[in-house]
Amino acid sequence: MTTTARIRDFITTQRPEGPCLVVDLDVVQDNFKAFRHAMPDSAIYYAVKANPAPEILKLLAGMGSNFDCASVAEIEMALAAGATPARVSYGNTIKKERDVARAFALGVCLFAVDSHEEVEKVARAAPGARVFCRVLTDGEGAEWPLSRKFGCVPQMAVDVLVYAHQLGLVSYGVSFHVGSQMTKLDAWDAALGDAKRVFVSLAKQGIELKMVNMGGGFPTKYLKDVPTAEAYGQAIYGALRKHFGNKLPETIIEPGRGMVGNAGVIKAEVVLVSKKSDNDDVRWVFLDIGKFGGLAETMDEAIRYSIRTERDGDAMEPCVLAGPTCDSADVLYEKKPYPMPVTLTIGDEVLIEGTGAYTTTYSAVAFNGFEPLKSYVI
Ligand SMILES: *Cc1c(COP(=O)(O)O)cnc(C)c1O
Repeated sequence: MTTTARIRDFITTQRPEGPCLVVDLDVVQDNFKAFRHAMPDSAIYYAVKANPAPEILKLLAGMGSNFDCASVAEIEMALAAGATPARVSYGNTIKKERDVARAFALGVCLFAVDSHEEVEKVARAAPGARVFCRVLTDGEGAEWPLSRKFGCVPQMAVDVLVYAHQLGLVSYGVSFHVGSQMTKLDAWDAALGDAKRVFVSLAKQGIELKMVNMGGGFPTKYLKDVPTAEAYGQAIYGALRKHFGNKLPETIIEPGRGMVGNAGVIKAEVVLVSKKSDNDDVRWVFLDIGKFGGLAETMDEAIRYSIRTERDGDAMEPCVLAGPTCDSADVLYEKKPYPMPVTLTIGDEVLIEGTGAYTTTYSAVAFNGFEPLKSYVI
């Protein structure tokens, strides 16, 4: 249940027009505390892309969070929210050299790399900075896997970090991301084993790495229950001890979804309930929000949100659920139809829960003339 009383009150008293996201800062605060409590020895770098609303960044900056940024614009947002440049990591492995230079000029001194080519850019544009090398993971068990786009194989990470050292950078550590919405507690184990092997290889060449960036991946509850932050903390510290023994490195975590996902609810409206033929037994339900209005993570039906209506006590039947735009890709759930009340009617309000992460940032500017998703942070 992610529709908090504060969100419910806001929607019923303010009656915001059109589809909108409402984020409850109290939940973000609770999530931050839960991470800090579950992983007290790791520095928290909030992944800004999950939801960069200034109120969220300000709250987190005030609570002592650091920030994982993917662009200069995100770095500027984190700084505007009160973070010092020392609390910012430029965690994208794909950066223009002039953006590296701008970040360095802003005082950022920690950069992600996963190739020799990227190391050369950082060495030229941010001389002497700290770098960490991202290694690939298999993404097994993640509902939103990050595939092979980021990272390199561990053996290459060794060469990349040696090269960084030769070019005058500080080879600082290793990073990985197990895949987003990771529901398997043991997913960090293999990646930490890889990280340790990179540490050992570098040590043989006289380079002492200091840090492991354990990325994000911490889930939000959608339809299925997910383990608590506490359970992740125990599994991860167990794996750290197993691979690093008594000499633990500095560690970083970069929660995005797990920090803000369950803090937000999208209020939307039923625009049409119809059938494609008289004897069709599956209704089509069209909402005023779809893939281009913020629900991009329904791509391949990867993320299945919890959707509430005021008629949830009535009998339910599966429906095809679709968005309002004229693009045929704008269908949310069809392969696996979504149960909705049989009494559902045009004009009904629906609440799409667990939508605090990866929604506003994914919504198009004006595809088909629909406004970008509005956001209220309360
Ligand atoms: C997106 C991203 C994150 C956040 O991932 P979640 O699964 O949302 O926690 C963390 N680190 C990096 C480098 C990312 O790109």
